Amino acid sequence: MASISIRNLVKQYGNYTVIPDLSLEVADHEFVVFVGPSGCGKSTLLRIIAGLEPITSGDLFIGEARVNGVPAARRDIAMVFQDYALYPHMRVYDNMSFALELRGVPKAEIEARVRRAAALLHIEPYLDRKPKELSGGQRQRVAMGRAIVRNPKAFLFDEPLSNLDAKLRGQVRAEIKALSQELKTTMVFVTHDQVEAMTMADRIVVLQSGTVQQYDTPEAVYERPSNQFVAGFIGSPTMNFFPVELRGEAAVLSDGGARIALDDKSQARLRTAGKAVLGVRPEHFAVTPDAADGVAIDVKLVEPLGSDTLIHFELAGASAIARIDPALRPKVGDRLHLRPQAGKTHLFDSQSGQVLT
Ligand code: ADP
Repeated sequence: MASISIRNLVKQYGNYTVIPDLSLEVADHEFVVFVGPSGCGKSTLLRIIAGLEPITSGDLFIGEARVNGVPAARRDIAMVFQDYALYPHMRVYDNMSFALELRGVPKAEIEARVRRAAALLHIEPYLDRKPKELSGGQRQRVAMGRAIVRNPKAFLFDEPLSNLDAKLRGQVRAEIKALSQELKTTMVFVTHDQVEAMTMADRIVVLQSGTVQQYDTPEAVYERPSNQFVAGFIGSPTMNFFPVELRGEAAVLSDGGARIALDDKSQARLRTAGKAVLGVRPEHFAVTPDAADGVAIDVKLVEPLGSDTLIHFELAGASAIARIDPALRPKVGDRLHLRPQAGKTHLFDSQSGQVLT
């Protein structure tokens, strides 16, 4: 059991600064996901917490203890890697028990811990197998089992699902979430996949260039992104962006000048800013029968997903997507009128990308 506290952390490789100045707190028992594009510093941050990378400056606390100089082996933290790193010549049981034997834990206690972890992960039938006799998902569970038997203060996961196929990924994702609720141990999970972040996390850290863009619950990050980067990164298909400005009292798309109906709040914000970037998620367009109320688009491509249908279109010089009711049976070439749903639009500063409030 432990909180993790990162204070004014700086990480440089030679002259290259990966993390310029980062502070964040992971609460005891919390499941926090670091998400961001490749190269943003997620793994570096995780490896720093694990003790596998030295800190350039700043402080790291695990629980009450400052651990800057404490070697990995003495941090009492377990890390699960993408490539599992199992010992190929050892049986599953031995892969899981090995670290405990090294520590001189009594045999009966080792057996009890391995059996408990195997039961939690549903890998009891495979304890006598070698890793090569297992599927990818089973190997991933053994890697988690090896971490669980140590009863660590915290678990760190470095993209542990990326070697699994899509179906298995969804399954193991749900298992890890259930496990976190059962074990009640602090967990930090790194991924570039925003769906993993949204579905598993208590709180998400969105990173870009080694800086925290937003640190909040999945709902808050989705509903109230703090800037255009977060808005574009979280959500699939991605949020649509259109430059907008005020002409007279009307909000219009800067490219093409089509009128776009905004709710009162957004209209007031645009009035203050003069121009902005309008963000509308695909699921937040309404198809309106009233041509005067919506902006006209021509359907370029239709993707039926069953539960809903994605339509692709061009608007104000940008490619855009709307998620609409399949019952509308849209066809390529159809002309539709779309209106952003009231209360669901986002406005960002044209220069800084920060949300306008
Ligand atoms: P992410 O996990 O978000 O993909 P990383 O933390 O692996 O990103 O890397 C962040 C940046 O630091 C990248 O630009 C990467 O090239 C650089 N980097 C990572 N490890 C080293 C290293 N050992 N030496 C120099 N640069 C590194």
